[in-house]
Amino acid sequence: MKDVRTDGQRKRVFIRTYGCQMNVYDSDRMADVLRPLGYALSDTPEQADLVVLNTCHIRERASEKVYSELGRLRDLKSERRLGGGDLTIAVAGCVAQAEGEEIIQRQPAVDIVVGPQAYHRLPELLARVARQSDDRRADGRRRPGAGVLDTEFPAESKFDHLPAPSEADVRAGSAFLSIQEGCDKFCTFCVVPYTRGAEYSRPATAVLREARSLVAAGATELTLLGQNVNAYHGEAAPSSIGGSTWGLARLIREIAEIDGLVRLRYTTSHPRDMDDDLIAVHGDVPQLMPYLHLPVQSGSDRILEAMNRGHGRDHYRRLVDRLRGVRPDLALSSDFIVGFPGESDADFDDTMRLVDEIGFASAYTFKYSRRPGTPGAALGDQLAESVKTARLAALQSLLGNQQRDFNASKVGAVVPVLFAEAGRKPGQILGKSPWLQSVYVEGGADMIGSIVNVRLLAAYALSLAGEVVADESPTRFEVAA
Ligand code: SAM
Ligand code: SF4
Repeated sequence: MKDVRTDGQRKRVFIRTYGCQMNVYDSDRMADVLRPLGYALSDTPEQADLVVLNTCHIRERASEKVYSELGRLRDLKSERRLGGGDLTIAVAGCVAQAEGEEIIQRQPAVDIVVGPQAYHRLPELLARVARQSDDRRADGRRRPGAGVLDTEFPAESKFDHLPAPSEADVRAGSAFLSIQEGCDKFCTFCVVPYTRGAEYSRPATAVLREARSLVAAGATELTLLGQNVNAYHGEAAPSSIGGSTWGLARLIREIAEIDGLVRLRYTTSHPRDMDDDLIAVHGDVPQLMPYLHLPVQSGSDRILEAMNRGHGRDHYRRLVDRLRGVRPDLALSSDFIVGFPGESDADFDDTMRLVDEIGFASAYTFKYSRRPGTPGAALGDQLAESVKTARLAALQSLLGNQQRDFNASKVGAVVPVLFAEAGRKPGQILGKSPWLQSVYVEGGADMIGSIVNVRLLAAYALSLAGEVVADESPTRFEVAA
């Protein structure tokens, strides 16, 4: 394959992102770290000098995908070398953290393995790779296991070493802002506490500074991110002057004051950390969109206990009642795992009943995936794949119907839509409603990045169609008195 670069000496990086929004944020930040080294973004690995795979380890299939992509990159690298060029391959993210050295052993074409807490050190790691490739040129061969590894949880926070965000971090008026990382909850199915480390909240002052920069760079919507975002407790004043910390509710109130910010979202929350203040904020802060992703995982108390979730089904139901009490039009979304070890038909029926009682606007559903090193992997009574498949299909059918009903309930309303990208058909653009529904309209690319009122005309399983009615006022939805 030919190197089709046409931009002379400029270096190019291709970053492929797997998994969650936190990885999307991290990929953007890696691009920010690499920009001062002269790297521009490339759309394909074929045009890149450096390829970064920012990986996800949450389920087995997610990590297997990474290894098949690495096989393709190895072939690309060999072709480059035959032509006298080279390709640097880096594996970042949670697979890098969990598997470390093993990645280089399994795929020796990999040059760098860098964990999610160490990517601010990429420039240093690239310099080490360059030194090694000079060595290789001298003796004609690469030393075995010569890949560079950094999977430490450094004492310094990567956030203190990242450049200020720029326009490149704002996509069509919207930006992610990571405020919290890691997890101390140790759900028995989950690798996050091992790959992302202990819970850490960024100082509130640093978060506010970044929020202001993103708004100044063109963001009208911010999504605050964290593996346990509502466990946020960021330092608001240095301990040397008496110190104080802010929870997520206080942070949301302060960010909402930023001039020019229209929409605010946060994800992912844990039911244990939905405190009174945070519930109140959903009724008080108009910039906070009426959408909440609140994973429940199962509707069976027995399984929730075995998962070490620290909440039961009634706790979850009460939370939802209280949230709907302050924000009746709140769209609820959730994560579900079917087929956790020992899940009986009766446990699964409990999940179906909970879904029926609550009514979700959208959801993510997963078959339990046995993750090495987690307590769940060592449990007996692992369920057959066929049982998981059947339960997943039943749950998805129920949730799919609920999503369709929720979408249908908005037909006829006029709602503000933030347009994000071109639609699949020519002349069509796609955006998000306040409830995070996908909305298609006929419209020009010049509307991308702006918030425009749209009358919703038809609802489908995963989206709505509408027409632009820029001069009409949005429909008022019921809000608490
Ligand atoms: N912190 C969030 C919470 O407490 O719900 C979830 C973060 S996790 C990155 C996203 C989702 O992946 C989880 O909510 C869970 O549904 C799913 N997940 C995690 N581990 C899994 C596993 N071993 N098998 C199947 N799904 C899993
Ligand atoms: Fe994983 Fe549980 Fe932590 Fe969420 S709360 S990141 S599911 S261990």
